[in-house]
This record gives sequence, C-alpha cells and structure tokens, in this order.
Amino acid sequence: MVNRTMGIHERHRLTEVINAKGTFTPLGVSRSSAGVAAAVAGALPEFFVMDELADRASDALAHATGAQAGAITHCTAASITLAVAAVMTGVDPNRIAALPDTSDLHNRVVLPASQVVDYGQSNVQAIRLSGASVTLAGSEKRCSIDELNEALAGPDVACLLLVASRLVPGEAMDLTAAVRAAHRRGVPAIIDGAGQFPRAADLLATGADAVLVSAQKYLAAPTAGLVLGTHRVVAAVRAQGKGIGRAMKPTKEAIVGILAALEEWHAMDRAKWEADQAAKVLAFVSAANELPGLTAEVLPDPTGLPLSRALLTVSGGIDATTLAAELQAGTPPIYVETAHALNGQLIFELVPLDADELEIILTRLAMELQATEKAE
Ligand SMILES: *Cc1c(COP(=O)(O)O)cnc(C)c1O
Repeated sequence: MVNRTMGIHERHRLTEVINAKGTFTPLGVSRSSAGVAAAVAGALPEFFVMDELADRASDALAHATGAQAGAITHCTAASITLAVAAVMTGVDPNRIAALPDTSDLHNRVVLPASQVVDYGQSNVQAIRLSGASVTLAGSEKRCSIDELNEALAGPDVACLLLVASRLVPGEAMDLTAAVRAAHRRGVPAIIDGAGQFPRAADLLATGADAVLVSAQKYLAAPTAGLVLGTHRVVAAVRAQGKGIGRAMKPTKEAIVGILAALEEWHAMDRAKWEADQAAKVLAFVSAANELPGLTAEVLPDPTGLPLSRALLTVSGGIDATTLAAELQAGTPPIYVETAHALNGQLIFELVPLDADELEIILTRLAMELQATEKAE
C-alpha cells in the first residue's frame, strides 16, 4: 500500500482498509490507474461544452463495446431509472417534463422475479423512481420464457428489464431468449450488467436495446453509469437531462476519466492481464492451502467474467462468519465476501490488491487460525 494514498487517510482521519470483497460500493468500489487519476485532475480546472464531451464519450463507448452509441449518467442505479424513462418518453420534451407522471404512457416494466436484486437499493425502486410500475414474472427461484411471455402480454408494457450479475439469486436466465421474447411483442429490452464491463459486447450480442454498466466497477474509472445501446434509446436517455435526469447527471471529471480509462482498456494486453490475475489467485490459493483449518480453491466467475476468485472453506475451530468478523475487526480491516459464510465459505477477490496486501491477508489468516487452535 505504498504511496498510493499519499496520506489522504491520515489527513482526514480515515480507515485504510484492504478490500478483498470485490467492487463494493461502501468501500469505494475500485482503484483507478495513475493515468485515469491524472485525466480527472486535468479536467477539474477546465470548462467544457458538455454536449461535446458527451458526444466524444458516445463515440468512445461505441468504439470500445460495439454499441451504436453510449450515454453517461451518474451511476447504474441512475441508468436504470433513466433507461426506463427513456423507453417511456422517447425524446418528447413534454413527456420528459411530465415524469414521474406516466398516466398517458405505456408504463409497465416487466422484471423476472428471480432478478430482483439489492445492490444497496432494490432495482424495483430504481425502476419505480421513473414513474413506471413493475410487473414481476415467474418466481424468485426461476422465470421461464413462457412466464415471461405471459407478463409481456398487454398493451401497456414499456420494456423488459433483465439483470446479468452474480447478485441474481434465482436460476440464470437465457438472456438472448428473453430479449427475443420482448422483441416479438415489440417491447424493448434493457440489461443491467453493472459489474460486467469486460462482457459488455456479449450482453449487447443478446440484441438488448440498452446495456447498463458501472464505470467504477471493472473499468476502474470514476463513478458513473454507462448506457450502451441503440441511437434511439441513447438519445432518449440523454434527453432526460432536461427532466428527472438532472439529478443524475455525470460530472465533467467523470466523463474525462472514462475517456482515459477506455483508452487504457484498448491499449491493454488483455490476455496478459487475465494470465496475471489467474497466477495471482493460484499463488494465493496455494499459500492459503498451507494454513491449518482451511481448504482453498480457485472459483471461476459465475457470470463468465474473465477473472476468478479464491474460495476458502473454513473447517477448523472457527466458523467462517467469525473468521470474517475477526479479519474486519483487525488493523488494517480486511473485507471479504461473506455471502456463503453460512456454508463455511469465504470468497476473496484479488484484482485490485498488490503483493503487500496479499501478504498481509495471508499473515492475518494464519494468526486468526492459530489463535483458535490454541484456544481449543
Ligand atoms: C452495482 C450494481 C448496481 C448499481 O450500480 P451503481 O453504479 O453503484 O449505481 C446495479 N445493478 C447491479 C447488478 C449492480 O451490481
């Protein structure tokens, strides 16, 4: 953790943490590169014609992902609200000004019940903020294409909303088949792929009218929402800036930071990046397997992202929930993914971590496990 923070934590009396939990909003999500940070710093003292900046961003997003066009919003929660608004109003200024009153519009959004997610807010609320109402299709465990078809029937459907995320609790859906079902009814489809920047082209290949991605997650850019999609939907999202989108606008420094991050993404040797990440996870797993009371293995990303994580199964005298709490209570606090802690499993995402931090994690794991062995 040398130098990177340049005393920011100390100056403002803030806790320096090790984030092995992934792209987690309460911890600041990701680490931007020095190049992205410099681009942001360069943007802050300048004026811009903001529409020009938005046009350049649209071109860069199209170039990077194969989308027809792109728009930038404050974040993906905002993108959900604004993409739904966009399909309801189009670019009509009167309709945009009337939101969240949708009484004259097709205002029903179909969402598979198995894809209701809570990323700190429920996506149902993000949809409802636009003035739309939500129809859930299928059950929490599963939504079949037949059940989707049933929910899509009727004249007042504004769009189908789908989610591509490891947060999805139910069975994975065939997104391409779901998009086709919507299109057969003349209904546009939006996919929330907030944590899926590296897979944006795959999600667009489903035929979705818009794919929503968080710039601050795997693009490691400043916080912002990327709306990738058709000219029509993107224009209608941008037009919301004169309505409910005013409170969800991107900052100039975020847009400039995204332009820099997209340039770096193009220049990057992705095969090497993936190989380096895989080697890092493998080395961590081997070292963790040496510790008593633990078995470690490589866990591929369940959504097909080109990265894996370390899965630690805790079998000694300490349970996984307690181990995670001890790691978080120490100095520095170490945050890990505890979604499967009740099954004795902790997940470590290593992407943004350096060698020093990995060493600290392994040392602290050894300490905690040793402490419980002694206590037995
Ligand atoms: C993170 C996340 C969001 C919210 O994204 P923000 O950019 O933080 O608003 C929405 N949906 C999913 C699936 C997410 O993972």
